[in-house]
Amino acid sequence: MPPPFEKIIIVGAGPSGLLLAIFLAQAKIPSVVLESWPGLDTRLRATQYGTPATRVFRRAGLVPDIRAASIPRFPTICWRRVADGEKLISIDMSVTEDSEDRMTVLQLGEIIQIMYRHCVERYAEFIDVRFNHRVLEAKQDEERGKAWVDVEIGGEGEEKRVQRIEADYVVGCDGAASAVRRSLFGREWPGQTFACKFIVQNVYYDGFDKHGWDGGNYMIDPDHWGLVARRGHGGMWRVTYGDPVVGLTDEEYLARRPWHFKNILPGSPEPHEYRIEKTNIYNIHNRCIPSFKVGRILVAADAAHANNPIGGYGCMVACIDVAGLADCFIGLHQGKASADILDTWATVRRDIFLKYIDTRSIKNIERIWKSDPWTVVETDKFFGILKELNKDKAALREFLLKESSIEYDFTKHYDQATRENGHTNGSRNGGAGELAAEVQLQA
Ligand SMILES: Cc1cc2nc3c(=O)[nH]c(=O)nc-3n(C[C@H](O)[C@H](O)[C@H](O)COP(=O)(O)OP(=O)(O)OC[C@H]3O[C@@H](n4cnc5c(N)ncnc54)[C@H](O)[C@@H]3O)c2cc1C
Repeated sequence: MPPPFEKIIIVGAGPSGLLLAIFLAQAKIPSVVLESWPGLDTRLRATQYGTPATRVFRRAGLVPDIRAASIPRFPTICWRRVADGEKLISIDMSVTEDSEDRMTVLQLGEIIQIMYRHCVERYAEFIDVRFNHRVLEAKQDEERGKAWVDVEIGGEGEEKRVQRIEADYVVGCDGAASAVRRSLFGREWPGQTFACKFIVQNVYYDGFDKHGWDGGNYMIDPDHWGLVARRGHGGMWRVTYGDPVVGLTDEEYLARRPWHFKNILPGSPEPHEYRIEKTNIYNIHNRCIPSFKVGRILVAADAAHANNPIGGYGCMVACIDVAGLADCFIGLHQGKASADILDTWATVRRDIFLKYIDTRSIKNIERIWKSDPWTVVETDKFFGILKELNKDKAALREFLLKESSIEYDFTKHYDQATRENGHTNGSRNGGAGELAAEVQLQA
């Protein structure tokens, strides 16, 4: 019997789009990846990915290349009070350093270059990545069993042409401004945009070492909350902070940066004491669409759901979303599952987002922005859990590596007789698993 489908269009060559293409190619399923930009997106965004994401990277065969490019060690994550720089509580991540599933640390721009290289060097037979292909709209005809996209093709300065590209399924992995999502739901994307700007920069400053800072430092303060973390070779640190003022121009936000840095960085430096290499400025949101699947069009990762970056959920969940979706397509392609499995994916991944990721990521940002820095270490429930875990390193290790409530193994929906050979993509736990996810994701 011929397979029930032949080709999938993936919109977006970000981490979710490229990963999905890799997993499909591993099962010899062809895909076309359409990317609007002339190259990969190297803006400053994600840098840390918890254990559930590492498990996905490992399954995709990416971990050796990622580890080779990453900083060698990442010993602690702590929460500091900005007012006096006091370290309030920390997690010793070195308890997991001998595990291949330990947290991953690398700038997203470098990770997607590794993913793209794997697409080109290992899976060229099955993956066709096309840059300068901006999807305008996604449509479908359920009767014919086809979906398609209208694409504007052409780089800057070139004459543009519009082409229709058809396949059996279209998957929108096109990020927060998704054209696929808009084709299905227009401007409807329920949730909230936070009343701040998020300012992100790579910084070189010898004061971090002089003051004994290392690892990741969540900064707690109503005016200067953020994350300061060692992220690259040669003393490169990522400094991100929220400016809790809305409506300024980018120039006005940047004019306030020396004041934020003086408060946040150890040693209260003046601008001539540090070097800023690159900056990006974002609005941040927590939002989710009504459904991740409408007929033959599916929407995954940031295109479907957004969360604020504090705690590092976004890309991690993007990876888990598409690893699960790949399992569903593979099961369908290989005759191990019916097309209903795609509906199951859409329901389960949306439920997980709303139940765990949305709520926890909001708690994460509120912990460092809205709570009282002088009492939070006593009042915050999550810090209470950490205090207990810190009493027993073996228990902390086990806890950090445990399968979490945001992972889900869709191969369990394969037909009973055929599912023995399925992948394990993590299973859904309750109880302790939920707490483990909380800690992993914080980290
Ligand atoms: C400052 C910041 C820090 C973050 N830190 C972390 C972190 O530490 N850990 C973590 O897990 N997450 C983090 N995130 C979130 C993470 O970066 C995102 O969740 C992740 O990039 C989502 O991947 P994606 O593939 O869904 O979308 P994207 O990375 O946005 O990729 C979408 C791709 O689609 C393309 N595209 C868009 N529209 C079209 C179109 N019409 N046609 C064709 N192509 C199109 C885009 O050009 C892009 O290449 C952070 C985010 C920010 C902003």
